[in-house]
Amino acid sequence: MKKTNDILIKSAEIVAVGTELLIGQTLNTNTHYLANQLTLLGINSYYQSVVGDNPERLLAMLTTALARADLVITSGGLGPTADDVTMELVAKAAGKELILDPVSKQSIEDYFNGIGRTVSDNNWKQAMMPQGALTMPNNNGTAPGAILVFDNLGKRKAIACLPGPPSELELMFEQSLKPWLEKRVNYKFEHRFLHMMGIGESEAELEVRDLIERQTNPTIAPYASPGEVCFRITQRKLRGQTEADLISPVVQEIKNRLGQYIYEDGERTLPEIVFALLKEKNQTVSFAESCTAGMISANFGAIAGVSEVFAGSVVSYSNSIKERILGVPSKILQQYGAVSKECAEAMASGVRKSLDTDLAIAVTGIAGPDGGTSDKPVGTIYLGADYQGQLTFEKHMLRGNRERIRTVASLRAFHLAWRCLKEKSDN
Ligand code: AMP
Ligand code: MG
Repeated sequence: MKKTNDILIKSAEIVAVGTELLIGQTLNTNTHYLANQLTLLGINSYYQSVVGDNPERLLAMLTTALARADLVITSGGLGPTADDVTMELVAKAAGKELILDPVSKQSIEDYFNGIGRTVSDNNWKQAMMPQGALTMPNNNGTAPGAILVFDNLGKRKAIACLPGPPSELELMFEQSLKPWLEKRVNYKFEHRFLHMMGIGESEAELEVRDLIERQTNPTIAPYASPGEVCFRITQRKLRGQTEADLISPVVQEIKNRLGQYIYEDGERTLPEIVFALLKEKNQTVSFAESCTAGMISANFGAIAGVSEVFAGSVVSYSNSIKERILGVPSKILQQYGAVSKECAEAMASGVRKSLDTDLAIAVTGIAGPDGGTSDKPVGTIYLGADYQGQLTFEKHMLRGNRERIRTVASLRAFHLAWRCLKEKSDN
């Protein structure tokens, strides 16, 4: 499979190039994307760096990275302007000449002809490649990428250069670099994800600590994001061989211990799961949002095809809208207040009735930073559900700033929707 001049890749280092990244003008999403891709391929990564468009510092960075990793992946600096110096310095770091690559030259010409423009002189610069490089076509732009394999201080090394714009980098990675890498790693990694809600990360980890400590293959890695916990279970397999499934027994054991919290064995988000359940049952949903003010609806609306199950929502911030549009009795508002179980349930019933849906979810709470009291501090959230006339509620005491409280409240609303739909289908 591997030619003698080829390479086995166990480790890689990402070098993001661009002054705009250093000064906080552009978020370094390319490194995030690439790091995740390397993990999925089972390639170790021990360092990442960002360097400005400065030839000396970039050359020094490449030299450092080459001493530490089998593969260096650069992002950015492949454009036509004078500050785009990545390809030139990669050639220098590898001890190669830059030469005009006829295939890249042709594709740049074709690209400009295609958009009805003539090629300006500096565009030819993008067809200059280190001698011996394998070029990667850019199907979302002009700058081609390159892969270079060479000897560096007695070791085989590789550098892969990808363009800066994320749409170009991601497509080139998918189409060219990923297939190239897959042939040069020893292992392939299979992953499974278990998503949980209603339990904290440390508590979840405690429940399976013995499994985590005993793990070698598969491994169990916990992640936490606002409001939820996820376990990634990964099995390492030798490439080109069929090996037993070691993941399923571990997943089963985790389900035995934490099953009540697991809402997904897979990669779907909570809104997607709610959408799928509603579709399967041929039912509809509506929301009444107070403190989230449309966030739940916006998250749901982001799913393609959701109009089949999503009737609409009412953003009922003020008490008078809760009364007038949702029919929340003024008695409830006076006696219990807008942030209460009674109000949340009445909001859910009201929106379900007026939008005529099978399920309705309502949220009311105090997102802060002001408005908290000693018995209802900032972060107090009530969720109400009306599922075909059956009322339920949840109370949550959330922590964090306004943004986090609203985000977690929205997630919790989908979790309650999931619980309603799931419990009914389990019966
Ligand atoms: P460049 O190829 O360096 O000229 O980069 C072109 C554009 O791609 C920049 O202006 C940024 O908008 C974007 N870009 C470059 N590097 C990154 C990165 N690491 N993450 C996200 N966007 C980037
Ligand atoms: Mg740049």
